[in-house]
Amino acid sequence: MSSLRFKAVEEAFKKKAICVEAPGKLTSEYYGKYVFSRNAMAKYLAKDTMGAIQNAVNNGVVLDRDIADHVAAGMKRWAMEMGATHYTHWFQPLTDGTAEKHDSFIEYEDVPGGNVIEDFSGKLLAQQEPDASSFPNGGIRSTFEARGYTAWDPSSPAFVMDDTLCIPTIFISYTGESLDLKAPLLKAINAVNSAATAVCQYFDPNVKKVVSYLGWEQEYFLVDESLYATRPDLALTGRTLLGHESAKNQQLEDHYFGAVPSRVAAYMKDLEFEAYKYAIPLKTRHNEVAPNQFELAPIFGEANLSNDQNLLVMSLMKKVARRHGFRLLLHEKPFAGVNGSGKHNNWSLGTDTGVGLLTPGKTPEENLQFITFLVNTLMAVYKHNGLLKASIMTANNAHRLGANEAPPAIVSAFLGSQISAVLNKLEASTTDEAIVMDAKKRLSLGIPHIPEVLLDNTDRNRTSPFAFTGNRFEFRAVGSSANCASALIALNSAVAAQLVEFKDEVDAKISGGKTKEKAIFEVLKKYIKESKPIRFDGNGYSDEWKEEAAARGLDCETSVPEIYKAYTTPESIAMFAKNGVLSEKELHARNEVKWEIYTKKIQIEARVLGDLCMNHIIPVATKYQSLLLDNVAKIYNIYPADQAAVLGSMNKSLIEEIAKRITNIKNNVDAMIQERRCANVIDHEYDKAVAYHDKVFPYFEMIRYDVDKLELIVDNEMWTLPKYRELLFIR
Ligand code: ADP
Ligand code: MG
Repeated sequence: MSSLRFKAVEEAFKKKAICVEAPGKLTSEYYGKYVFSRNAMAKYLAKDTMGAIQNAVNNGVVLDRDIADHVAAGMKRWAMEMGATHYTHWFQPLTDGTAEKHDSFIEYEDVPGGNVIEDFSGKLLAQQEPDASSFPNGGIRSTFEARGYTAWDPSSPAFVMDDTLCIPTIFISYTGESLDLKAPLLKAINAVNSAATAVCQYFDPNVKKVVSYLGWEQEYFLVDESLYATRPDLALTGRTLLGHESAKNQQLEDHYFGAVPSRVAAYMKDLEFEAYKYAIPLKTRHNEVAPNQFELAPIFGEANLSNDQNLLVMSLMKKVARRHGFRLLLHEKPFAGVNGSGKHNNWSLGTDTGVGLLTPGKTPEENLQFITFLVNTLMAVYKHNGLLKASIMTANNAHRLGANEAPPAIVSAFLGSQISAVLNKLEASTTDEAIVMDAKKRLSLGIPHIPEVLLDNTDRNRTSPFAFTGNRFEFRAVGSSANCASALIALNSAVAAQLVEFKDEVDAKISGGKTKEKAIFEVLKKYIKESKPIRFDGNGYSDEWKEEAAARGLDCETSVPEIYKAYTTPESIAMFAKNGVLSEKELHARNEVKWEIYTKKIQIEARVLGDLCMNHIIPVATKYQSLLLDNVAKIYNIYPADQAAVLGSMNKSLIEEIAKRITNIKNNVDAMIQERRCANVIDHEYDKAVAYHDKVFPYFEMIRYDVDKLELIVDNEMWTLPKYRELLFIR
């Protein structure tokens, strides 16, 4: 009997919900407790220091060393009162997730024989040189000149985690290239700010800044920790490489929005308490579609901050899960046959005057502005649909996209019937008819119902990767484990470049003697026509859509290594260069890293799969086959041959089926290893990734097929790996 599996099942089954106490009566009492927030700053910093920080954050003014020294002193005092003994520059390498190296505050006093003191200067706050040569950089920084710097991002507040003051930073090379995801995100946010602010001037000269917003929805699975420990594939790759579907999974649709199981409810509460201490405004929590799958989402915020909060929440989720005897799975597709996990990125732009640029307005002027930003976003998504797909594509997410539950591997935009009708009407109208100046010199779209109609936009399309949802676009193709920055860099940069182009075209028409309104209308009309191929309101899962999308010229590539090439097309290179977000050198280097990560992920999975087959599956199946052979031999011993042939026939056919399947498995594992050997000697990262994708990866399905069939016939008591029904239904 497989003692480990049954022991794990028993342990998991006995676990009870842990009692969690709220840290205060009201959330507001402890909200942001661990964050060096504006309130904390006001207590620990002088007024002019505060002002300098605000100026740096709001207007991009560089902070001088004196100010940094003052901030460091106040920050240190605050952090030590919170129990911090160490500090770290918290950064976002290209591997996803975050990285940190802790340093203690202690220094020797600057006197002979002096004692240690706690020291933290502006220099240490502003810049650090982690020995980070082992972070992937795509060859920008070779190890012999391994200098990379982390530099303080004052726009995201520092926080204390355990005993450490964490300072959000960017990570750049000695020669200034970005080595992380935060630096280009900040640049992209800047680019869209200046481009959008310039366009806003057509409508309201008071607008001085445009903010890009992010509201993420984080999906995840929880698995009991005891069961997790007995699944090497979960522990090493984050997903199950083997496992037959459970007879019941999500068919009854009884999990989604159902009552949250008690152990999970305790986890969610505990997690929220923790998140609130870090000023992460978690707002919703619920069951997701698959069994043991859940979701949480915060109130949206400024993109850079909201993204940092997502990264922080992912690490809190992992930590808190262990307190409740769970392991957190952020993998995009931990289980075959049930839904995978995504992270919807709700994205919008808003002005410093408080206007949502993707929110339909109440007046015709506001609506012309709304239509301008909507149509320019569509154009950006149309022109860069391949790039947007590349921005969310990983070895993990590839399992989810294109499967029958998540957006397809084609980026299209859903607008809903009402907005589509408005765009169609605009497209068909003559400019003169569309622009009507009323007595108060107000601009009207000539479509009197727009304000009312738009506010009622409620239709939904769950199959669209990029859907308009009333006051924002929802980029749904982002993976659950991803750093949202990757998608936001591509999206904000593409929209920024598009807005610059729009403004150039409108200005040219105005110089040619057209009125501003007429010029805007003409350009928008042209864009509505041009960007039509990106608009798709139908079923994104259907095969007809794949055909049609190809006919429309949209990017339909499904191979991950190939998809990354969208980053280095002449269009992408020009777009990123125009915005100053990423240089051609950086784009190439980043692709090297992406290919390398892809290869390594498949390589690790292939190794784990081979091990599982050789150490778990084949031995167990062979043992069971011996048992059957014993049984058949005994039947032939006792009964005459003609009777024995009948009585032993069922077990004989099982014996043969096992023989056939384990032979298939062994042959496929050997062939897969051989392909890996060939792939491993390939030099170029792209070619290697292609070999792993084309030659190694296809064996996964073939091997799994025979293993999962064996699971159905081998004695349950002998099977060592917890089954899907145990992983998905014990909580
Ligand atoms: P749904 O599941 O219906 O999409 P959720 O409430 O789960 O809705 O998530 C919606 C997310 O969108 C939340 O994070 C919310 O704060 C965010 N959001 C709402 N309005 C905007 C906006 N204008 N810009 C960006 N994000 C937004
Ligand atoms: Mg949503």
